[in-house]
Amino acid sequence: MSKVSFSYVCDIFNTLEGTDSRNEMTEVLSNFYKELDPLDAQILSYLTLGRVAPLFVNSEFNYSEKSFISLLKDMSKSRDLDEDIDKKMEELGDIGDMLQYFTEKINFKSSKLTLQEVYNLLWDIVNAKGTGSVESKNKVIVDTLNKLSPLEAKYFSRIVCGELRFGVNTKTLLDVFSVMVVGDKSLKDELDRAYGAHADIGYICSLVSGKKEEKARKSLSSVKVQPGIPVMARLVERVGDFEEVFDRLGEEFLVQAKYDGLRCQIHKFKEWDFSDKEAIWFKYIKKEENGSLFEIKEKKSNIRLFTRNLEDVTDMFPEVVEAAEGIGVESFILDSEVLGWDEENQKFLPFQDTMQRRRKYEVTDLKKQVPVRAMVFDLLYLNGESLMTENTIDRIAKLEEINTSGGIAVTETIKINNIDKLREIFNEKIEEGHEGLIAKEKSGGYLPGTRNYEWIKLKKSMMRGLVDTIDLVAVGYNFGSGRRKDLGMGSVLGAIYDEKEDMFIGICNVGTGFSDEQLKSISEQLREDSIDEKPKNVVVEKSLEPDVWVEPRVVFTVEADEISKSKDSKYLSLRFPRLTVWGRDKGIAEATGLKELEEMYGG
Ligand code: ATP
Repeated sequence: MSKVSFSYVCDIFNTLEGTDSRNEMTEVLSNFYKELDPLDAQILSYLTLGRVAPLFVNSEFNYSEKSFISLLKDMSKSRDLDEDIDKKMEELGDIGDMLQYFTEKINFKSSKLTLQEVYNLLWDIVNAKGTGSVESKNKVIVDTLNKLSPLEAKYFSRIVCGELRFGVNTKTLLDVFSVMVVGDKSLKDELDRAYGAHADIGYICSLVSGKKEEKARKSLSSVKVQPGIPVMARLVERVGDFEEVFDRLGEEFLVQAKYDGLRCQIHKFKEWDFSDKEAIWFKYIKKEENGSLFEIKEKKSNIRLFTRNLEDVTDMFPEVVEAAEGIGVESFILDSEVLGWDEENQKFLPFQDTMQRRRKYEVTDLKKQVPVRAMVFDLLYLNGESLMTENTIDRIAKLEEINTSGGIAVTETIKINNIDKLREIFNEKIEEGHEGLIAKEKSGGYLPGTRNYEWIKLKKSMMRGLVDTIDLVAVGYNFGSGRRKDLGMGSVLGAIYDEKEDMFIGICNVGTGFSDEQLKSISEQLREDSIDEKPKNVVVEKSLEPDVWVEPRVVFTVEADEISKSKDSKYLSLRFPRLTVWGRDKGIAEATGLKELEEMYGG
């Protein structure tokens, strides 16, 4: 198969941009994928998500729209172009359109670069780090622009600035792969399972690309967990009362405290043995890091920490890394929740305090102020063997045999076989400051990315008859009036996720629960994400339309008095919603779902 040209990829991107219907998008992409060899298909999978590598590989471009504008100004000056770049940018409002306009004017000729050549250049931009990195990035970008057509320049610049937005996400791509192989979505379960165990979208794509159904199924079923590559986090269901836990889990089950921190998978491995044949991104990282993929600052390490969003947070929690290094076991994957720890009073800190540690810089100072501890509640892999299919009770027994200290501790697991005991432990955990309990069925393997009634949460708020907290995606904001207006905004329009349609439904404006500081910083953040028109993947009743639309990106948590349904609206809404946490560590597709909200309303 011939190597695909970047210009052809851009034609497809252009078609996608003009497509509103998800099915049509899936159709266009799957037909295109069929024409590609596995390597190009792998690259396309990362690129459509605006990346050069999977989510868990730190590979940001660190090149902003502003940097592009200043580059264009320099280029314009050196070519004696009489162009007011700022004014034109304001008029066009989009970096891709700006680049398209500019390259048209300069009349660059496309050198018909292949997708792989452009991918190489993109990595050169990512890999330019440290002193002089801006100049190095500029040089690669100018050299590349010289070889691109206006349409290619449009998409190239959008990728580099993180502005490539077709509304395609991982879930859409898994649908696309299914349609590519079998013509419909019937391969979705196998793809979900494989991706759940090995969350590298390009790798999963390369396994099925160019294969007939039987071979593709075989490849997918051979996918195994591997320390170093994150597993999709298992999620939990909710119930309304203690009795229902017994209905769901039977006479005897396990419970653990429900910690309110940051989900964190801790991986330890002896050697990285992922060849570049399997993962194209690997060789670029190797090149960058002198043969060692895993380097934390000066210290080489074979530990990696990942959030539930698949973000690599190894550098953020050195005390957890240190504790993991100290565990006398060669390889493992632990599932845990990281929480701030108050040494003096020997108790965990609230979520907001833990989140202060969610920073890449000044970690050493913060480590002293807010030390953290990873509370481990599951074991997915041990000493070269996957435990994914072992029963929960056996996995936990193996976990309890592991000696931990310092930044890692094993969660207490308690067997429950009567309702009084359940009540007693629940109250005990609430008194200790936890959110409640997670109840788990004794049997059954670890199901990645799955939410079902084998893992159940029992929370304080639910017990009081209130609605469980709800996670919304910010899709717009309103200016408000008076003091609010001066502080930056009055309210945020929050949306739930309609998983069936892959759309976000705006359900309520949230204006309570914000501090003045938050109003200022959040409105600034939202202003940066603002867009002229309603995003294609958002629906909302006319009466709720906000003053400003924003790109769906941030997930925030609210409490509400009740879920309501008004006669005038097709959608459910929340009564008296108030903010509890801004900026959850979740992807937008992990916000509260439509089905989930309907169940909560019905229940
Ligand atoms: P909530 O908003 O109620 O915390 P959520 O929507 O963030 O829930 P859920 O999947 O409903 O996420 O709740 C499960 C989360 O609880 C897990 O993602 C994990 O981060 C956390 N958690 C805390 N303690 C445990 C535990 N012992 N076992 C499993 N998960 C736990």
